[in-house]
Amino acid sequence: MAKTEETKMDKIISLAKRKGFVFQGSEIYGGLAGTWDFGPYGVALRNNIKGLWWKKFVTDREDMYGVDAAILMNQEVWKSSGHVGGFSDPLVECKKCKHRFRADQLEDAKKCPDCEGQLGEARQFNMMFKTNIGAAEDATSISYLRPETAQGMFVNFKNVVDSFHPRLPFGLAQIGKAFRNEIAPRDFVFRSREFEQMEIEYFVDPRDPKKVQATFEELYGEQINFLKELGLSSDKIHKIEVPDADRAHYSKRSVDTEFDFPFGQKELLGIAYRTDFDLKAHTDSSKVDLSYFDEETKERFIPHCIEPTFGLDRLLLAVLSDAYTEDEIDGEKRVYLKFSPKVAPVKVAVFPLLKNKPQLVEKAREIYMMLRKEIPGVMFDDNGNIGKRYRRQDEIGTPFCITIDFDTVEKGSGVTVRERDGGKQERIEIDKLISYIKEKVS
Ligand code: ATP
Repeated sequence: MAKTEETKMDKIISLAKRKGFVFQGSEIYGGLAGTWDFGPYGVALRNNIKGLWWKKFVTDREDMYGVDAAILMNQEVWKSSGHVGGFSDPLVECKKCKHRFRADQLEDAKKCPDCEGQLGEARQFNMMFKTNIGAAEDATSISYLRPETAQGMFVNFKNVVDSFHPRLPFGLAQIGKAFRNEIAPRDFVFRSREFEQMEIEYFVDPRDPKKVQATFEELYGEQINFLKELGLSSDKIHKIEVPDADRAHYSKRSVDTEFDFPFGQKELLGIAYRTDFDLKAHTDSSKVDLSYFDEETKERFIPHCIEPTFGLDRLLLAVLSDAYTEDEIDGEKRVYLKFSPKVAPVKVAVFPLLKNKPQLVEKAREIYMMLRKEIPGVMFDDNGNIGKRYRRQDEIGTPFCITIDFDTVEKGSGVTVRERDGGKQERIEIDKLISYIKEKVS
């Protein structure tokens, strides 16, 4: 079992590189552990996931406000949030080979998994990347690459309240890079040192605890709905109620959503009830009042916060590994990505049946240009025979291929639209093509 699963992961990593989704960071210099670069299809896939997320959680809702805070923040932010003091993982080092591991991820706390040497004592290792701002390198110039996007929203809480006067409940949402100096980055983009988060800080009235719980459930439900919208298989999604002992110090309730990745069931995203921990901590430290005034009851209080958080890189890996399929079509083995059309980087590819027939190429380019104006992610391909072109598109998960043949040009009898999963072909009139494709991909 473990062996075939491993092989599947290897195949996914190799396809992701070969086809221009994900490359190792700084590859020509031997790489940089825990960093990944995204090629054209990787960027398109990420943008599609981010676009769907932003639409669902921000533009389609009246109660959400988008922000984009700076990655570098005043070091006081991280002192108040507890990250300087406590954002650490237990690190152990092998006395023999000097390899380092996260103590809480080892099966045997005494024996090195690489060389069976003896492991040293665990010590706490702070995961924030430290840097200095400006020319001076002293205690006042210290800053950190943010380890989460959340704090960028808490420090802008007052700005949004002052300019938009939202009534509770309302949320701030942000998509952006986060950095963690992970002791052992692993499992492709699952655990990296630079990654991207999509987070919401949803502020609620703490005076009605029942409503707070209902809001928690509602937001959790929306997280799961989002995974379904991405096309992820429901049976691979698992709800984990995080036990008291494992919860972050600021959280009163946490639910992790785990996913069956090829290397096992692991955390994909989470939701935490952060109470008033952050706004209170920032009020105390900054001396700026981050409370909320209820116009109706004339009461002032610090709102509580529920935080649904999503890791974009883990979502990308979930989508990629769930879509990876091997089957046989027309008596030939094939590998294809069964992406939902909504996330597929290329939605439709247009082919002239033959490359050396100018009338076919001209018509195909005309249809390609027509589709491009209306649909994002349209590709033109006239290289090799049709079978090869289908395979190439299948491998990058393109849901539809359109072929322009002699009947299209001579009889005006439409084009052939071939569907990826079953290979089914249909003849569609050119003037109906845009609406036919649009309906299926959006
Ligand atoms: P883990 O226990 O796996 O280290 P975490 O519980 O520390 O994760 P959170 O602090 O809850 O993670 O971060 C929110 C989300 O950010 C996670 O659900 C995950 O999707 C993503 N994330 C966290 N760390 C990484 C990482 N090193 N690489 C990629 N994504 C990450």
